[in-house]
Amino acid sequence: LSDLSGQTAIVTGGARGQGAVEVELLACAGASVLICDVLNDEGVALASRLTDAGYDVRFQPLDVTSETAWVAALDAVTSWTGRLDILVNNAGIINRKIIRDMSVDEWRKVMDVNATGAFMGIKLCAPMMIESGGGSIINISSNSGFSGHYDPAYTSSKWALRGLTRSAAMEYARDGVRVNAICPGLIVTDLNRGSPHLEPMINMTPMQRSGEADEVAQLVLFLASKGSAYITGEDFVIDGGFTA
Ligand code: NAD
Repeated sequence: LSDLSGQTAIVTGGARGQGAVEVELLACAGASVLICDVLNDEGVALASRLTDAGYDVRFQPLDVTSETAWVAALDAVTSWTGRLDILVNNAGIINRKIIRDMSVDEWRKVMDVNATGAFMGIKLCAPMMIESGGGSIINISSNSGFSGHYDPAYTSSKWALRGLTRSAAMEYARDGVRVNAICPGLIVTDLNRGSPHLEPMINMTPMQRSGEADEVAQLVLFLASKGSAYITGEDFVIDGGFTA
């Protein structure tokens, strides 16, 4: 059910952190995977490590806020495999300032990457997925997208991703493109390593631990594959019971 042979995937923010693990798992399942990120060196190194291991993986520089860069990424897919089946909108940034300390530009930056970047990905990738006979889009939101937090821009962008997921799912269902969101809790990566919030969050988590990037990637694989064929417009919380 999770054999992705013959399929092509784009993973944004795929050069490190959770995205890199998602890239590896999708490639292991047989997909050709385009790593898209602003981190060139990390992206090139990951693509070369996975290619050496026998997987079909390439790197494409992509800033998710640039429409031109998205078009270039789709051109790269067209000349590589000629089809697109899976898009993981994983790229994300955080700014922990509260409203009174945050400038409008800082707010816009977070919304631009986390929400508008995913909107652009869906808008530009969906037509190629439809041409390929359908596909699966997975938006990486957060369990922050269910309540208020002291990082208002990040929290708002993750709520926005849940709304985008549901709306896009309705719009593209008849075209055979499914759209779902994953809402992880604490996963220790470069996004939050060293943060003073880690220990309190673990203490508040019923399972008393943080999650592993691989546990999120397994859910990405499920939502990308045939086993989830009748699921669209849903958000899946994966946070050790934090939101329960
Ligand atoms: P990370 O910082 O390790 O990875 C984020 C990736 O996104 C990096 O490779 C970065 O270069 C890339 N990126 C940033 N801006 C970009 C842009 N404009 N264009 C393209 N790529 C860009 O963090 P992570 O924890 O792996 O985060 C992955 C996703 O998971 C994010 O959307 C994050 O919000 C979400 N998330 C993380 C946690 C957590 O606890 N780590 C929890 C819930 C949700």
